[in-house]
Amino acid sequence: MDAAVRALQESRRLLVLSGAGASTASGIPDFRGASGVWSRFDPREFHVERWRADPEGFWRLRMRLMEELDLAHAKPNAAHEALASASASPRFLGHVTQNIDGLFLRAGHQEERLVEIHGTAAKVRCLACDRFFPYEVVGATLPPPCPQCGGPLKPGSVLFGEPLPAGAWAQAQRWARDADLLLVVGSSLEVTPVALLPGLALERGARLVIANATPTRYDAHADALVRGAVEAEVPALLRAAGF
Ligand SMILES: [Zn+2]
Repeated sequence: MDAAVRALQESRRLLVLSGAGASTASGIPDFRGASGVWSRFDPREFHVERWRADPEGFWRLRMRLMEELDLAHAKPNAAHEALASASASPRFLGHVTQNIDGLFLRAGHQEERLVEIHGTAAKVRCLACDRFFPYEVVGATLPPPCPQCGGPLKPGSVLFGEPLPAGAWAQAQRWARDADLLLVVGSSLEVTPVALLPGLALERGARLVIANATPTRYDAHADALVRGAVEAEVPALLRAAGF
């Protein structure tokens, strides 16, 4: 912990990379874990081709998945709040999250310093007019029509078979190259392309601090490892480092 605090104190361009572990204390299970969403739903049902072929069937299942996630009742935890507050610091460069639950923004995170690299399930997007709407516009009529133009709506999170949101990956790479410290929060760094970001940052001489409950494949390259529950460790770490 001391080495992690020192590294953060010295950082002038902090990049945060967060994953499912940041939201488990908010009651949102890791999609890929043993009790995760993909142990109860078939991921193939959420492929973009499935949405194209049968939007009504796709949305019926998607609504069941969203009921299970119950995002409306999930609350940001202390890790979301500490990172949201840190994002206002001039020493905070940016934050790339793999999470689609929208909890960092609900905690008040600076919007221009957050890239939701897998999109957000808190919103839906109209493919005709390209506007975003809150998920709550999805209601009785299936497939749901755009409230503005009646066009087809798609979840705001990235479906299997879809590219990442426009510009998101480019921004994440820019930040990884510019950062002097990468702080990983609650990600096991298994899912590409996000798992490539530590390599990019390290190549440019950035330091690496990993706060995760379990080992990651970058642990050997880290300047400091913080084990334990991220909702306790990360707020303490940021506070001690003056963020
Ligand atoms: Zn529309």
